[in-house]
Amino acid sequence: MSENNAAPAKAKGKKRLELDPRLAAYQGIWVFVEMERGRVHPVSWELLGEGRKLADILGVELAAVVLGGSEEAVEAASAEAFTYGADLAHVVADPVLTEYRNEPYTKAMTDLVNRHQPEILLLGATTLGRDLAGSVATTLQTGLTADCTELAIDPDNRGLLATRPTFGGSLLCTIQTLNYRPQMATVRPRVMAMPEADPVRVGRIVREAFDLSEESIIAKVLEFIPDEAQEQAQLAYADIIVAGGRGLGKAENFQLIWDLAAVLGAEVGGSRPVTHAGWISADRQVGQSGKTVRPKLYIAAGISGAIQHRVGMEASDVIIAINNDPNAPIFEFATYGLVGDALRILPALTEAFRSRLA
Ligand code: FAD
Repeated sequence: MSENNAAPAKAKGKKRLELDPRLAAYQGIWVFVEMERGRVHPVSWELLGEGRKLADILGVELAAVVLGGSEEAVEAASAEAFTYGADLAHVVADPVLTEYRNEPYTKAMTDLVNRHQPEILLLGATTLGRDLAGSVATTLQTGLTADCTELAIDPDNRGLLATRPTFGGSLLCTIQTLNYRPQMATVRPRVMAMPEADPVRVGRIVREAFDLSEESIIAKVLEFIPDEAQEQAQLAYADIIVAGGRGLGKAENFQLIWDLAAVLGAEVGGSRPVTHAGWISADRQVGQSGKTVRPKLYIAAGISGAIQHRVGMEASDVIIAINNDPNAPIFEFATYGLVGDALRILPALTEAFRSRLA
């Protein structure tokens, strides 16, 4: 924190910071509503839930920012954003925003920020959100904290406290953007809880002007080819996940994970060593450098429970750990622990569920 900002100390010895009038002009919290091919990414609603809490603490409005190719698309997304807590939606409907491209989206977003001056801007740490957040922060010359796991407000200066893992996940650091606005942060899908939608809640739509011709945009979308692998692995929003780790011994044994998952209608996940070894595809990795998940049930077999794995799955409702080492760290936070050989327990569970669910 800059000493220049420090005001006289308060009673308990804490310093209260006077906000530079240049920064104080920025007000309100914005959440970027990520829409691709007419579908809103659920991380947008998770961020609205979190944004609502921050806005209530600050006593400011929560706005959704909805960019899209047609009035119909942005209005539908705005109506949904209101049900998840937004007070208003700044919308831009323009054909150049039909498919995501960095250039028009960055221009639309930075124009809006310069026009309305929000103090906080939140985006999902998805492929699209990461691409957009970086260029928006660079264009606006402000601070961006990526992959946050916690967002809070500093009572002393009303600033955003953006917490994220550092040093390989062994430490958490809290970052503040003291001298620039807006304060930007990205959050990965499933890190924040999904808020309850209030279907009768409504808000104001603010239609925004946008002036960018198709001819002036360098990147052209020629064709959209869906990524088959991405389509298949819906780990982040799965209700049940069966995950395997290095303790399974070899690639062939991973079939036991697939078998149990098939019987339970579950998704398959794994720890980093098994994705690195090619036992399963990289998009199925759970953890700090993989996906964050929040299923109702997470079954972890042959996974030690290292902190980098734990941060990606500890928000699961129920965790069942299967490990032959009674002192494995995963037993410290699992709901139920089975001490034994996963190669024997997994087929027994598959058989038991198969006969019960048949
Ligand atoms: P191990 O730690 O080797 O554990 C295997 C477990 O299987 C042991 O507990 C053992 O007792 C048990 N076991 C052995 N045989 C059996 C058996 N027959 N039956 C039952 N249990 C058995 N890791 C991730 O998972 N996700 C990440 O996103 C991730 N990101 C990382 C990012 C960074 C920057 C770093 C430094 C590391 C990251 N890691 C990540 C790696 C992480 O630190 C651990 O090394 C990893 O999670 C360990 O994977 P594991 O539990 O499968 O293997």
